[in-house]
Amino acid sequence: MSFKNKVAIVTGASSGIGAATAVAFSLQGAKVVMVGRNEAKLTKVAAKCSKPLVILADVTKDADVKRIVDETIKKFGQIDILVNNAGLLRNGGLIENDIMPAYDAIMNVNVRGVVNLTSLASQHLAKTKGNVVNISSAAAFLTPMVPGSLSYYISKAAINHFGACAAAELAPQGIRVNTVSPGPVKTDFFENGGIDIKYEDFEKMVALGRVSESEEIADVVLFLASDKAKGITGSNFLADNGMVIKR
Ligand code: NDP
Repeated sequence: MSFKNKVAIVTGASSGIGAATAVAFSLQGAKVVMVGRNEAKLTKVAAKCSKPLVILADVTKDADVKRIVDETIKKFGQIDILVNNAGLLRNGGLIENDIMPAYDAIMNVNVRGVVNLTSLASQHLAKTKGNVVNISSAAAFLTPMVPGSLSYYISKAAINHFGACAAAELAPQGIRVNTVSPGPVKTDFFENGGIDIKYEDFEKMVALGRVSESEEIADVVLFLASDKAKGITGSNFLADNGMVIKR
């Protein structure tokens, strides 16, 4: 898969799946735009990419989202691929009465940020007949394993349907929109979200008895973003080691 002369924006490129995706695009010749808030982490990942554009931005802030598109166009003149990967997990259960702060924080990153950036990027994607890949989760097909994480599950279910609706709306412009739904992946995601769970626990929950590396998810993203997937839009690829079939 060659992405030579393609411009790929990856949100949440400072760690985990987003970092692996940015590096993979760069290795395949893309001009990569790396978005995140943590400058130190972004700089570390950027060192593994060829001349990336690093944009410090918070996808929940409208001005930042606009700046992601503006700075990309200023530097590279076009957008071919948008990977909406930035995501947040935070505890907040129905019964503890503290659900709304977690709900708002999660929906703002996982849904609002995705809708906002996709919308602003779409006029540029129309010019290149580009595509969007959203990172959802196998969680969207399930109910929570850990009490208090239902806002996350709701957000990923919303992003699944956003992917289908956006694919339908943008198809006449030649823009494809697809979704990848990982199961457990070895990143800092759960620790960052205050969820105390071990990978050995996850291994017992999935049919294949293993947990993915970020690079495996990046491979699926690159396939969907490539011309090999030119006939694929509105799809949702489970990359979950058989978590959904086992549950
Ligand atoms: P990480 O915690 O390693 O990465 C999350 C990324 O999101 C970071 O780069 C972070 O960057 C970025 N981010 C969070 N909030 C914002 C924000 N407001 N603005 C901009 N960037 C933000 O987790 P993963 O790599 O695991 O997660 C990536 C995606 O994969 C998420 O959407 C997650 O829901 C999904 N996923 C992960 C699974 C897993 O098991 N790890 C399973 C299923 C889905 P920074 O801190 O620099 O802002």
